Amino acid sequence: MQYDFLIIGCGVTGLSCGLNLLRRGRSVAIAERGLAGAESSWAGGGILFPLLPWDYPESLARLALRSMATYAGWVAEIEATGGGDAEYWRCGMLALNVGEGERARAWCAAHGVAVEPAPSRLFTLPPQGDGGQTLWLPDVAQVRNPRLVAALRAAVEARGGRVIEQCAATGVRTQSGRVTALETTAGTFAAGTVVLATGAWSGLGLPGLAGVPNVRPIRGQMLLFRLEPGVLDTIVYRDGLYLIPRRDGHVLVGSTLEDAGFDKSTDAATRARLHAAAAGLLPALGTVQPVQHWAGLRPGAPDNIPIIDRHPDFDNVFINSGHFRYGVTLAPASAELLVALMEGTTTPLDAAPYGWQAALERAWDAEHGDASG
Ligand SMILES: Cc1cc2nc3c(=O)[nH]c(=O)nc-3n(C[C@H](O)[C@H](O)[C@H](O)COP(=O)(O)OP(=O)(O)OC[C@H]3O[C@@H](n4cnc5c(N)ncnc54)[C@H](O)[C@@H]3O)c2cc1C
Repeated sequence: MQYDFLIIGCGVTGLSCGLNLLRRGRSVAIAERGLAGAESSWAGGGILFPLLPWDYPESLARLALRSMATYAGWVAEIEATGGGDAEYWRCGMLALNVGEGERARAWCAAHGVAVEPAPSRLFTLPPQGDGGQTLWLPDVAQVRNPRLVAALRAAVEARGGRVIEQCAATGVRTQSGRVTALETTAGTFAAGTVVLATGAWSGLGLPGLAGVPNVRPIRGQMLLFRLEPGVLDTIVYRDGLYLIPRRDGHVLVGSTLEDAGFDKSTDAATRARLHAAAAGLLPALGTVQPVQHWAGLRPGAPDNIPIIDRHPDFDNVFINSGHFRYGVTLAPASAELLVALMEGTTTPLDAAPYGWQAALERAWDAEHGDASG
């Protein structure tokens, strides 16, 4: 069977893109090498906010803010279409020891991000003052990753999309600047349009299809604790460490940024370090052991800016990748931008920063040092 769109990679990026196309009446199949949503999109924390946005280029913030503005409605529509509960929760975030606090506040004011005095219940946390400011960001939300991915998959299938698991893309057949077929371990599929959404593996490309410039795996280790519901009811962030409460009492603690290739192993020293740091923020975590410890591979790209563009070598191949630390946050706006590029309609925001050419330039800067710095 021929599909209008063949998407390679069934994480949050491929699924969001597929759903957007299905809503437009297109036929979609998603080829997934393993199980749907079992890689980075499963492993992540689900905070819907860059950490911290004023420290990133505006192009990352713009895409994130667009996503954040639509997220509640996007999730509601997904749940209404396929059932399930992604556990979207506007739980707020307490950012502690924020350096250059006035610059951060000014950024929030300029971008419509609310900053309010922290609610008194949060003063039960240990004192955190050593120079930086405390910022309470009441509108920061989260989703529960495995549940978001399950809901997305259900919505895709409810709209007639096909998810093909255990189906690794292994190569392409090409003719006159177009990919005519995708070769996979489950057979050969005639190609209408192909979307590369292979996350941390996007830099590898496929035989005959060049990989995305400078996307590489960056490992992140996470700990999961089980507390009584209500012990923590907001995200807490301090100096690169975050605690994410779930409504049922689970608390996620993350994470690390490790350049370790495609190795998803975890280690005891990191477990101990994360545990001690988390207990410093929330003493209740010091008296319990983690119930789970895992690692995932983020699709790392310079400045966290994804690549959302047509492939330079083929008219009918598009890229949606390199979302690094914020692929869950960026999913709706990235899919929206990609579909606008595919359809040749007005893009919802300037697409240039997410283009292949801009990615090449960032890759060069990352390798040689940014001359402008
Ligand atoms: C520890 C950690 C914490 C994180 N926390 C957050 C957070 O709080 N908020 C946030 O917004 N983001 C967070 N992220 C980042 C976010 O999870 C990722 O950016 C996002 O999941 C990327 O989604 P993806 O679909 O592009 O990649 P993936 O979910 O990795 O999906 C890519 C898929 O492509 C498949 N694939 C690869 N090659 C092939 C092939 N040849 N054929 C077929 N299939 C193939 C893979 O098997 C995989 O399933 C975190 C990530 C980690 C690891």
